[in-house]
Amino acid sequence: MSDYAGLGDVAGKRVLVRSDLNVPLDGTEITDDGRIRASVPTIRALADAGARVVVVAHLGRPKGAVEERYSLSPVAERLGELLGQEVAFATDTVGEAARATVAGLADGDVAVLENVRFNPGETSKLDEERAAFAADLAGLVDAFVSDGFGVVHRKQASVYDVAQLLPHAMGGLVSAELDVMRRLTESPERPYVVVLGGSKVSDKLGVIDNLLGKADKLLIGGGMVFTFLRAQGLEVGKSLLEEDQLDTVRGYLDRARETGVEIVLPVDVVVDTEFPSGDREPHPTVVPADQIPADSLGLDIGPASGEAFAAALSGAHTVFWNGPMGVFEVAAFAEGTRAVAQALTEVDGLSVVGGGDSAAAVRALGFDEAAFGHISTGGGASLEYLEGKELPGIKVLED
Ligand code: ADP
Ligand code: MG
Repeated sequence: MSDYAGLGDVAGKRVLVRSDLNVPLDGTEITDDGRIRASVPTIRALADAGARVVVVAHLGRPKGAVEERYSLSPVAERLGELLGQEVAFATDTVGEAARATVAGLADGDVAVLENVRFNPGETSKLDEERAAFAADLAGLVDAFVSDGFGVVHRKQASVYDVAQLLPHAMGGLVSAELDVMRRLTESPERPYVVVLGGSKVSDKLGVIDNLLGKADKLLIGGGMVFTFLRAQGLEVGKSLLEEDQLDTVRGYLDRARETGVEIVLPVDVVVDTEFPSGDREPHPTVVPADQIPADSLGLDIGPASGEAFAAALSGAHTVFWNGPMGVFEVAAFAEGTRAVAQALTEVDGLSVVGGGDSAAAVRALGFDEAAFGHISTGGGASLEYLEGKELPGIKVLED
């Protein structure tokens, strides 16, 4: 009756839930709580089934030691508000505070452990270090639910090793995310259009490689586009450029021509002479993509490109979008991202937004999340899935 995802009766059991609560913070203020909200249903379901829920998660990239600014304490508080119940917070992950907090839980209660990455064992490359830390985590509880889609591509103690030590199940969020990923890879409805942006090409090489064989069109914007423009012989001024990827990118352009995949690059670009920063007033200037001045850098796709991208998306039945089209954090460079987001809301079919910054961008720009087919909580994980890689945090659940 109070079975959760095949775990059996969880009533009265201490269940460790690996969630992805890695939200952007400004000081201690959460600027986008999307991942916390996405984590609520699984926690709610377990608590309603009478489990004593112990949430383990990370925030930021502390290097295996305590860094106060990465404390999960404000996140635990926000989780409590969203759950509508008190959430206990343990000031360590597997120490005395954690043990006391877990011991104090009644059926249906929820606790959050302090940032798992304050412990060097979490991300250690040494199997035995991770295993030892995982054993400490496992010692706190009776069962494990993997629900942090944003981390399932990581072979880390709270994602991978701990699942080998406890009865385990896939959480509802991970299972919903995987369903969408399957729809994107197993016979997607055509036309299938992929939009890629964000800062670095090198982050997205694998996915471009794999999608060149699957998508009908590939639209490219963001910081990575300048390596594409440069690869075609254009001058890109001070724009983000990965010289060492130029040959690879030329290879993609050739392959796309051979396989009939249309790569759409911006025809115009919004430039400025400096990267936007604090007090400096931005001076956005639209230039044709082949006339980027030497003293300027591209910070967004231009309005004609926004229209062209929207037109390319208008007939699509499947869309995957990862990576903002520009430095959307600054209003002057957010219009390209807005144009793409708007076009996605109008897609007749499956539209998926993947990537932490892309998801934050659609919310920050005021779009209704319900207007998209799916907003993924996992950027890296969804990219690795689309690259065709095996995700260790999923594989371990199948064993
Ligand atoms: P996601 O998290 O959605 O996968 P990325 O992390 O790859 O996206 O990239 C997001 C970042 O890319 C944003 O912070 C944005 O400001 C930056 N970005 C977008 N366009 C540019 C550009 N032209 N130059 C520099 N940075 C850019
Ligand atoms: Mg990002």
